[in-house]
Amino acid sequence: MKVLVINCGSSSLKYQLIDSDSEGVLAKGLCERIGIDGGMITYQPEGKEKIKKQVDMPDHTEAVKLVIDSLIDKENGVIASLDEIGAVGHRIVHGGEKFASATVINDEVIKAIEECNDLAPLHNPANLIGIRSCQAIMPGVPMVAVFDTAFHQTMPEKAYLYGIPYEYYQKYKVRRYGFHGTSHSYVSKRCAAVAGKDIKDMKIIVCHLGNGASVSAVAGGKCVDTSMGLTPLEGLIMGTRSGDLDPAILQFIANKYNKSIDEVMNILNKESGVFGLSEGLSSDFRDLEDSKNRGEDKGRRAMEAFAYRVAKYVGAYIAAMNGVDGICFTAGVGENSPIVRNLVCDHLGFMGVSIDQDANNQRGKEIVISEKSSRVKVMVIPTNEELAIARETYALVK
Ligand code: ADP
Repeated sequence: MKVLVINCGSSSLKYQLIDSDSEGVLAKGLCERIGIDGGMITYQPEGKEKIKKQVDMPDHTEAVKLVIDSLIDKENGVIASLDEIGAVGHRIVHGGEKFASATVINDEVIKAIEECNDLAPLHNPANLIGIRSCQAIMPGVPMVAVFDTAFHQTMPEKAYLYGIPYEYYQKYKVRRYGFHGTSHSYVSKRCAAVAGKDIKDMKIIVCHLGNGASVSAVAGGKCVDTSMGLTPLEGLIMGTRSGDLDPAILQFIANKYNKSIDEVMNILNKESGVFGLSEGLSSDFRDLEDSKNRGEDKGRRAMEAFAYRVAKYVGAYIAAMNGVDGICFTAGVGENSPIVRNLVCDHLGFMGVSIDQDANNQRGKEIVISEKSSRVKVMVIPTNEELAIARETYALVK
C-alpha cells in the first residue's frame, strides 16, 4: 500500500509518499508560505533532483491539491492516479489523555482532537486543517491520526503530575504529556534491535536532540518519563526554547521589561535556548560549533549548557529506571554532532560508559559509539518519524 504522510503546520505542509511493502520513500517535499505571498512547493521524487516551484497557495486545500498534482505528474510523478494512495497518516501534535495510540480518523476523533486544541493552540488547529484539506481532496481514502503525545501516555502518575494544586489536573488536565513520541518509540525499538535484545528486557534512554529536543526513559518498551511537559517548552535547553526554568523568572522579566505574560512566553519559546545563550548568534549547532572552534565564548557556553542539561536528564532517568542498558542519540544534533555526544557522555564515565572516538566521528548513520568494554551501549540511531507514521497508518487500515 502507498501511504501519504502529512505533517501540517500553520503555514507549511511536509509530505512523504511511502510504499508500505518496501518502506521506501517514493517522493517527498514541502509546501511553504501557505496563505502568505511567495508560496513555494518542493517536490523530490525518489532518486531524482529536488524540484522547487514558486506558486501561491491561498489555503491548505490548495497545497494538498498541488502535492497530488506533483505525485501524479506525467513527467516526474511516482503514481498514475490518486486511486493509488491507500491511506493518509497525519502527524497530530497533541492527543491529550484521550489518545494512547494512533487511531483511524472519523468525526468523533476529529472532535476529540479539537478538544485538545487548548493544550496545543499553535499546532492542533493546523493539524486539523491538514486532515480536512486531505478529506476534501481525497474523500473515501482512510486517514489515521498519529499523536506526538501517545507514546508517553504510559508514564506513571508520579511522573506526569506537577507539584501544583491537584484541582488543576482534575479540572483542566494540567499535567506532563511529552512530545516527539513517534521518534522516541521508533528509536527505542531500533535500539533493542541493534543490541540484539528483546525491548521488554531493556532500559533505554533516548535523547532526541533537534531544534526541539527531549529525552525519554523507556523501560520494557514503555515510556516511564520524558522531559517535555504540558507543552514542548519544558525540559532541555533547545534551539530557541528555554526548557526548564524557575517560573518566577516570568514575573521578574515581565516587570523589568514591562512586558505581558504572552510577550515573555514568546521570548521563552522563540528567543531563548542556545539562540539566546549565544547572544542571538544562532540556534543551529553548526554555527555554534564554528564559533566554539574560533575560540568564542558565545558558541562554547551555549553548547556546554545544552549538553550539561542533557546529561542531567540522562542521570535523572537512570535513577527513574534504576539502571540503563542503552543510551541513544537521535535527530539533527544527536545524529550529527560528535562534540555534543562527547560533552554528554563525559558525565557518564562513573557507570562505565566509554566512547569509541572513531565510531563517534561518523555522522548520520546507525552505529554503536561506545567501546566494546562499555557496560552501557551508547548508539546513534537516525530517527524516521515519517516511516513510523506510515507503519502505524498501514497497521490500522490494511
Ligand atoms: P527539527 O525537526 O526539530 O526542526 P532537526 O532534528 O531537523 O530539527 O534538527 C535540526 C538541527 O540539527 C539544526 O538546527 C542543527 O542545529 C542540527 N544539525 C544539523 N546538521 C548538523 C551537523 N552536521 N552538525 C551539527 N548540528 C547539525
